Amino acid sequence: MEGPARSKGRPARSRSLVLGSRSPRNERRAPVFPSADGRGSVGGRLSGESRTAAVTGAARGIGRRAAERLAERGYRLALSDLRMPEETIRAIRSRGGEAIGHAGDVTDAAVVEGFVRSARAAWGRTDVLVNNAGISLIAPAEGLSPDDFRRVLEVNLVAPFLLAQAFGAAMLAEGKGSIINVASIAGLVGIADRAAYNASKHGLIGLTRTLAAEWGGRGVRVNAVCPGWVKTDMDAADQARGLYADSDITGRVPMGRFATPDDVSSAIAFLADEGESGFVNGHALVVDGGWTADGGWESLRRSHQGPGGRVL
Ligand code: NAD
Repeated sequence: MEGPARSKGRPARSRSLVLGSRSPRNERRAPVFPSADGRGSVGGRLSGESRTAAVTGAARGIGRRAAERLAERGYRLALSDLRMPEETIRAIRSRGGEAIGHAGDVTDAAVVEGFVRSARAAWGRTDVLVNNAGISLIAPAEGLSPDDFRRVLEVNLVAPFLLAQAFGAAMLAEGKGSIINVASIAGLVGIADRAAYNASKHGLIGLTRTLAAEWGGRGVRVNAVCPGWVKTDMDAADQARGLYADSDITGRVPMGRFATPDDVSSAIAFLADEGESGFVNGHALVVDGGWTADGGWESLRRSHQGPGGRVL
């Protein structure tokens, strides 16, 4: 858990950086990325008009992998995080992709406006917005301070609304766009000691469905992904506080493992792509190895897994 993000020294309000040369439309080289099996893959669909995507929280974890995955598919990226997501930009650029960065706290409306301006200045249009930036907070409800509760709602729910509104305006004017909110299975079920986090993710799914109803008829699809536990810095920080162990998670998942940033970014890439998910709107796509589907008990679950929770 990173905790309310007010901690470690906030960056100056916002600044942007362009890394990677811009090339005229229809004249791009396909970016080359190593695939999961290490053999390398070439991003497709670059012969036509290139697409653009904005991703928040892109410096690490799910956001970084989502940015890389979209670059693999030929998107030009506008990336934001509290600090400039330089490593992600460099990784994308080193493989022939194109990305710009913007630093700042996305709960600040001025930062959001600056991010939209940077994306527009670099790429003109934004086809896809991935609202990924988020913070975790694990604490019993009775001791939770109102400020901490509000901060989690600000980052995980108010900021995605501000970003959807800001990027959505141009998408609605174009009559085309896809917004993907990174929620959680904590937005679908209750989990003790996560009152603020779960309320924020339940709210984010409600926001997703409402914007889908409001904007779907004007060509802008709005969907959510709901990962189970993912091995990122967020999980490492929560586990470092002794709040749970790997076996607590793997023992609860029918498929016997954590989600990976690849699992989640594949779902994001699917929802981004009109050709693949053009009639999917207002959906909360679970990426949890069966966690929320499984209403059985632990010994029953284990009896259907291999030794040590291995998937048979
Ligand atoms: P992470 O902590 O590794 O990365 C989150 C990124 O968001 C960081 O780079 C951080 O700097 C950035 N960020 C945080 N607050 C910000 C702010 N106010 N403005 C701009 N950037 C900000 O986390 P992650 O595990 O990659 O999580 C990404 C998203 O996935 C979050 O929304 C999280 O709630 C969700 N999620 C995570 C898990 C998990 O187990 N890790 C499970 C389900 C959902």
